[in-house]
Amino acid sequence: MIRIYQAADLPEAHLIAGLLRQAGIDARVFNENAQGGLGDIPFGAAYPEVWLIDPADAGRANRLIKDFDGAPTEPGSVFCRACSEENPANFELCWKCGAKL
Ligand SMILES: [Zn+2]
Repeated sequence: MIRIYQAADLPEAHLIAGLLRQAGIDARVFNENAQGGLGDIPFGAAYPEVWLIDPADAGRANRLIKDFDGAPTEPGSVFCRACSEENPANFELCWKCGAKL
C-alpha cells in the first residue's frame, strides 16, 4: 500500500479514487471519518487520503492525478492596457475604463 494523494476534502478524495479505479488502478480512500473530528486530530492528519493497493501503479496514478489537477479551471485574466485593471479573459472591454482589451 502506498499513499498517492492527500485531498482537501472527502468528495475530492472520492473523485481521485474514482478516477484511478476507472483507469484500472485499485485505490482506497482513508481518513473518511476525519471530517468532523478535526478538533481531536493533529492538523494535517485530518485530511482524507487516497492510497494505492499496488505501489507499482504509483507512476501511472501520479500522471492521472497530475492531468486532473492541471486541468484549467478558470480561463485566466487579461490586464487592461489603458488602466492596468485585471479583467476576466472573456471580457472584450475593460470593466473599469471601457477600453478595448
Ligand atoms: Zn481599463
